[in-house]
Amino acid sequence: MAKVLCVLYPDPVSGYPPHYVRDDVPVITTYDNGQTAPAPKAALGFKPGELVGSVSGELGLRSYLEGLGHELIVTSDKDGPDSEFEKHLPDAEVVISQPFWPAYLTRERIARARKLKLALTAGIGSDHVDLEAAARAHITVAEVTGSNSISVAEHVILTMLALVRNYLPSHDVAVDGGWNIADCVSRSYDMEGMQFGTIGAGRIGLAVLRRLKPFGLQLHYTQRHRLSADIEQELGLTFHPDAASLVGTQDFVSLQIPLYPSTMHFFDDKMLARMKRGAYLINTARAELVDRDAVVRAVKSGHIAAYGGDVWFPEPAPPAHPWRTMPFNGMTPHISGTSLSAQARYAAGTLEILESYFDGTPIREEYLIVDGGGLAGTGARSYKLM
Ligand code: NDP
Repeated sequence: MAKVLCVLYPDPVSGYPPHYVRDDVPVITTYDNGQTAPAPKAALGFKPGELVGSVSGELGLRSYLEGLGHELIVTSDKDGPDSEFEKHLPDAEVVISQPFWPAYLTRERIARARKLKLALTAGIGSDHVDLEAAARAHITVAEVTGSNSISVAEHVILTMLALVRNYLPSHDVAVDGGWNIADCVSRSYDMEGMQFGTIGAGRIGLAVLRRLKPFGLQLHYTQRHRLSADIEQELGLTFHPDAASLVGTQDFVSLQIPLYPSTMHFFDDKMLARMKRGAYLINTARAELVDRDAVVRAVKSGHIAAYGGDVWFPEPAPPAHPWRTMPFNGMTPHISGTSLSAQARYAAGTLEILESYFDGTPIREEYLIVDGGGLAGTGARSYKLM
């Protein structure tokens, strides 16, 4: 029987379960690209809309796994040599982790995980796993592709509006009993008519473009493969051959590409210097796509108006991380892809992947990142090992 080691973020400080403000979440069965939402055969061990991403929620997996005689260990203690994660890793056949509270599967940890066969990301983005080491060890890496793409796209729009309208400081003025409108609006603009460029127009990037169209922005994108002429025409998109040629004219730049060795620190001092003065940089993809301190310099100097998003390195971010106190930041903890709505889909997808694994049937191709000793499925399209 298998040991399944599941790393989830801690429960609410106010206790588990939380008080739910709504009684249901809409049921989404198909995504924009026609892909169907997860459809496991086994009954879900939770009601959609419940908090299953924290330790006590267990992604609703306990009854399914224990029903098959497997052992489920759930912990949030993931970092350092004395962590619960390290203790159980050598015996684990399956590791489940969420990008919001990643159990980093480094080369060294993979070397110690001698029984590990499946590293499952409950969410999207498997860069917390050393994919090259996983491929060499013939570990399958899978994620629940598509499960939270719209959740993230909505967070991008939220962040853009919050930054351009100076929403967060203005809200503080209201809460603090003030009424100084001049202070609030001296950094407040409309998005209408502005230029928006996305680096990457995949599931999230394209969903952001579609949602921005009715706001009346001029839309731009770059990625290695051009979108179809139909989509370009429908959204009035301008294609740029690379990021360097896109950023100089944009009022907003949004990063929507995966992190792999050659995209690490893509936005460094040089790329940031190319950006238009007063532009907003949004990053909900991965923190290490940008040089942390170069972003601080660009914001503090006033070259970029603000930086916002929800991804940090490492996660959880240390208390002294400079983005916490940097001026004009619209940062949140890593929450965009783990709304209660998203959790329902990626927990169901986790169950679907586990069913395939334990039944010995193929895992959906779109869920695969690494399989059979190399990149596979979505991984082969989205990642590069170098
Ligand atoms: P997709 O794979 O659908 O899209 C990524 C796009 O990036 C592709 O269209 C690809 O196009 C493009 N791309 C890849 N490499 C480059 C490059 N070097 N230069 C320019 N474009 C590039 O991924 P998703 O949209 O689903 O997700 C994107 C990322 O968002 C994930 O990898 C993950 O890190 C992050 N994410 C964050 C979440 C959160 O909670 N904050 C939740 C979910 C995802 P092409 O191959 O043509 O270049």
